Amino acid sequence: MSERQITRDIAQYSDQDQPMHRWSLTVDGDTVSELWVDIATGEIRQVETPAEHQGNGYASALYRQAASDIEIYHAPETHRTYEGHRFARSVGGEALPCQHGCCDADPDFDEE
Ligand SMILES: [Zn+2]
Repeated sequence: MSERQITRDIAQYSDQDQPMHRWSLTVDGDTVSELWVDIATGEIRQVETPAEHQGNGYASALYRQAASDIEIYHAPETHRTYEGHRFARSVGGEALPCQHGCCDADPDFDEE
């Protein structure tokens, strides 16, 4: 029997990044998938599952756990990678509009 465990903490994806929420799924102590979420916006920033662990629903399990813990959102469609888009389509759920002013879909005037 392998033991699956989901843990939640706050970590930095890299030295340049702000701390983010992180959900990790381990099987027998090995991390097989991680889901990173922006603390301020709830936007999913990274979903990482090493190739040898893909196809087991690990990322989807993390998504469901994270979504039951806090409000999380997929990245705006225009910002997603191909994999990110497939992931969002497969697990469903809400997405954020672009909040960075780089997409025309939802024009918004700057507040002075
Ligand atoms: Zn944008």
